[in-house]
Amino acid sequence: MRYYSTRDRSLRMDSAEAIKMGLSRDGGLLTPEAIPQIDRAFLESLAGECYQTRAAKIMGLYLTDYTEEELLTFAENAYGPDKFDTEAVAPVRTVDENTHCLELWHGPTSAFKDMALQMLPQLLSAALRKTGEDKTACILVATSGDTGKAAMEGFADVPQTKIMVFYPKDGVSKVQEAQMVTQEGENVGVCAVAGNFDDAQAGVKRIFSDPATRETLAGRGYFLSSANSINWGRILPQVVYYISAYCDLVRDGRLVMGDPVNFCVPTGNFGDILAAYYAKRMGLPVGKLICASNCNDVLTDFLRTGVYDRNRPFHTTMSPSMDILVSSNLERLLFDLSGENDAEVRGYMEALAKDGKYAVSGAIKAALKEQFWGGFCDEAGTAAAIAGYYKKHGYLIDTHTAVAAGVMEQYRRETGDETVTVFVSTASPYKFCNHVLTAIGETPAGDGVELLDQLNSVTGVPVPRRLAALRGKARRFDRTCEKPGMDEVVLDFLR
Ligand SMILES: *Cc1c(COP(=O)(O)O)cnc(C)c1O
Repeated sequence: MRYYSTRDRSLRMDSAEAIKMGLSRDGGLLTPEAIPQIDRAFLESLAGECYQTRAAKIMGLYLTDYTEEELLTFAENAYGPDKFDTEAVAPVRTVDENTHCLELWHGPTSAFKDMALQMLPQLLSAALRKTGEDKTACILVATSGDTGKAAMEGFADVPQTKIMVFYPKDGVSKVQEAQMVTQEGENVGVCAVAGNFDDAQAGVKRIFSDPATRETLAGRGYFLSSANSINWGRILPQVVYYISAYCDLVRDGRLVMGDPVNFCVPTGNFGDILAAYYAKRMGLPVGKLICASNCNDVLTDFLRTGVYDRNRPFHTTMSPSMDILVSSNLERLLFDLSGENDAEVRGYMEALAKDGKYAVSGAIKAALKEQFWGGFCDEAGTAAAIAGYYKKHGYLIDTHTAVAAGVMEQYRRETGDETVTVFVSTASPYKFCNHVLTAIGETPAGDGVELLDQLNSVTGVPVPRRLAALRGKARRFDRTCEKPGMDEVVLDFLR
């Protein structure tokens, strides 16, 4: 299987090269040139397998320059019992006859980013071998919270890689900061930036695009790489859990093989729901893909009108991982829906860069309407969904998951569709204790890790082991730099 750019189909490469590059040189996203098809027999063969085997078999359809044996080893390393707190890895919890929840936060950092970031480092280090790369990859990350920690946890002590994470000094939650500054591993570095997330992000981009820095680093045996969600190596591991959830529902008698299921996904950068779309395109029986946003409702408008317009206020919400106005991975969807028309996609992206908006063709608009449904849930609705699920079902969900739950209800009310629906749970409620406590009618007493016990004593829901362990962990990283000092931090790190 070869991969090409959404903006230029003549740029082609193998999967190992695509994973190593991350982003195509022309700014496009690297995308498989064909979508492998699965049938009922394939699904039936997966139903009796464990998650790791399912992952190896599904990923093998796309990563033809990796062996199935390699992929199985990677999956066992990524999703083993020392990393995930449940053997099922991505369990499906039944809420009622028609409603199930796919829990993706049982990994080491308690957010769904682990599902891909436990796998990507292994795909990348194998890609270095396969392409004969002798330099060490240095992953630079600017994070607003979840990605930095999950990326470090994935890359810690992976040979031929180093990872440096920058976070805004006062821009992450106390739990998130504690998670990052206590990170173990010989090849990791963490630094706070005196500024906001945009400053950290701008600094990382500047370092990436500075030829002098690149040259200095090359002389020391390093090249820079990225672990954000435009890398195909982050999308593919996410396709696995949609197919796996379907297999579980059939195995447990909740669904008859061949019957459709809807997925409702809390969305930010459009990576997670894009993976669901690929699963559908592969032949998984999927009805509607329900795209759930918070107050940053740019995708809701887009799916309804065919006009993407980022010119609107940015809202800071209690589901911060979805506070985003430019959903990068949408580009891969447009490429597919346009019949892989790279010139058309290039036009949309140029308009987005120039005017902050674009309008898709009538054909794409019709296809969007058929396959997707978009909705958004405001702050009051999010809190109400947390309270409602807790009271009615005894099920404690986080703020991002609550957005999905709220939008799923809207969808059902407006359409009357009674298809079995799986909504996706992307973080443990313990990552957002203060909002969750408030939503269920409690007054948070304290801040950060202090609230873990309060939420636990009120609800009886167990605290994830790694979050509980944060309290006893030594702080390893204390450095704060000014915005212009980020380059120096990187150069110090890569001595
Ligand atoms: C990243 C994230 C999302 C959004 O996922 P996308 O792939 O960016 O759409 C939702 N919830 C949580 C908790 C996240 O960390």
